[in-house]
Amino acid sequence: MAADLETFRRETRAWLEANCPPEMRRPILNEEDHCWGGRRWTFGSDAQRQWFERMVARGWTVPAWSREYGGGGLSPDEATVLAQEMRALGCRPPLSSFGIWMLGPALLKFGSEAQKREHLPKIARGEIRWCQGYSEPNAGSDLASLQTRAEDRGDHYSVNGQKIWTSYADKADWIFCLVRSESEAKKHTGISFVLFDMTSPGVTTRPILLISGKSPFCETFFDNVRVDKANLVGSPGGGWEVAKYLLTHEREMISAIGDRAQPKPLGQQAAALLGTDERGQLRDPVLRAQIAEFEVDEAAFRLMLERFGALMKAGQANPAYSSALKYYGAELNKRRHELLIAAGGSDALEWESERSGHGAAVRGWLRTKGNSIEGGTSEIQLNVIARRILDLPGT
Ligand SMILES: Cc1cc2nc3c(=O)[nH]c(=O)nc-3n(C[C@H](O)[C@H](O)[C@H](O)COP(=O)(O)OP(=O)(O)OC[C@H]3O[C@@H](n4cnc5c(N)ncnc54)[C@H](O)[C@@H]3O)c2cc1C
Repeated sequence: MAADLETFRRETRAWLEANCPPEMRRPILNEEDHCWGGRRWTFGSDAQRQWFERMVARGWTVPAWSREYGGGGLSPDEATVLAQEMRALGCRPPLSSFGIWMLGPALLKFGSEAQKREHLPKIARGEIRWCQGYSEPNAGSDLASLQTRAEDRGDHYSVNGQKIWTSYADKADWIFCLVRSESEAKKHTGISFVLFDMTSPGVTTRPILLISGKSPFCETFFDNVRVDKANLVGSPGGGWEVAKYLLTHEREMISAIGDRAQPKPLGQQAAALLGTDERGQLRDPVLRAQIAEFEVDEAAFRLMLERFGALMKAGQANPAYSSALKYYGAELNKRRHELLIAAGGSDALEWESERSGHGAAVRGWLRTKGNSIEGGTSEIQLNVIARRILDLPGT
């Protein structure tokens, strides 16, 4: 078995070296570096297209999904080896996708066979871009208060209401959406999880501008949107279970964001900005100590991620661990960007100049502020950790 895995590692490394273009071995530093796929997607470069198509052909956009759903059919150990080899070579993920990170796992667990066959291969091949319709103006942390209604019309639902902070709603093809289907039921039991096409009559989106100057998310409005009952995932009124399960995957994904995006260890990035003394140490001793502390914490966090992965594979992971990872990963990423800004000094604060990448550092730093809000705020993660991991008394 171990020998098989070693052979797989050797072959995988050779394949990646031969097939991952050099441009796709650079870290993803901004929105333009992602490949999101979808009906309206245009590739940023030939290299991006090649890398995407080669990985899709092997099912390696979703290596651990079975082949019938467009995956690579790899065992968990093989998928880990692939991830390690991609990391060692610095390969970008060929496809960034809410379908892969969030909806896919939920469909694999709760979807009907027909839903899996319909949606999973399109996710794997990057044909459909998904967005997430959870939050509403009065239902963020208290998500179960959501008011978007789905009225039963026999073979379909009629959906009315408003979502907010819907990331990429204006670019997405389909939405996975939480709706209140039973107004008389208790808060958590009257919610259903439905899927629908964003081009359905009655769907409109309005982008919201962020402090970082970007506009990646929208207000999303539904006005008598027809949703066939075939697109209900799980049971009517049973959407909360699906929603919670999906959130654990979203939180894991967010927890690893900072780790994935780094071109070099923070110490090396700071050394390039500040210079080193005759012993090769960072010139600023205070920042040096802060960065050393950060790198130790980051190494510990990476080990924690691996441990969680192993527990998941063994079926022993407490789902609430995803909250611990999300909390710590978000805080760590914010710290990383604070330190980068400190190392860059006033140069790092430039916003528009031609000189150093159009405010990349400061925009990146501002974007991290959202890490401790999206997917559930840090305070909410601490509540989950207190209740479900530490078993502390509470309300
Ligand atoms: C970058 C980004 C992308 C996002 N993308 C999406 C998306 O694609 N789809 C989607 O549906 N949503 C998305 N969201 C929305 C996100 O899920 C919500 O913003 C989040 O759940 C918080 O809800 P809220 O904004 O309504 O804040 P509120 O719930 O109003 O919270 C306000 C403050 O009160 C605190 N608070 C609230 N309740 C408690 C409590 N019980 N205990 C302690 N403190 C509490 C919160 O921690 C927070 O500090 C995104 C958000 C961001 C920042």
